[in-house]
Amino acid sequence: MGLFGRKRASVSQGRVERGACSCPEHREGVLGLAVPLTAEAREAFPDEQPMTVGELIEVDALGIQPCETPSFNDADTAALDGPYTWTVWIGDEARSSYEDEAEVSLDAALRARPGVERVLWEDREILHVGAPTLCADGMLAAAARALLDPRVRLGERS
Ligand SMILES: [Zn+2]
Repeated sequence: MGLFGRKRASVSQGRVERGACSCPEHREGVLGLAVPLTAEAREAFPDEQPMTVGELIEVDALGIQPCETPSFNDADTAALDGPYTWTVWIGDEARSSYEDEAEVSLDAALRARPGVERVLWEDREILHVGAPTLCADGMLAAAARALLDPRVRLGERS
């Protein structure tokens, strides 16, 4: 059956190498960009400067690794959800740059990036992403763009 065959092929396809990918940009395109802090964080830590994407990576607050679990069972329906290709790590320092109450949640911002098909926010710091046509460098850029999306922060308070 064509449909079944295609589904199996996409599961075994896994991750693409850079060059064979569809990424609109790669990590070098975002490394120097400063990720704004939330108004709340700026209020609480007035001397705190926004970190760049490169700095967040250096302090291990933003990272990408291959997803070890290609699919997950839905908690309610037990339906198999996937495939997931990458796991995005969002550590402490990045936590000051998004808010759960903002217009767009971080996982929704990530889901809106080109090439991202699905996002599963497993834990505060761990998001699994199905993006079979993004390479590691492009996945990192997509995760950075989600943090850079102004809609993940509440509006300015004065
Ligand atoms: Zn790529």
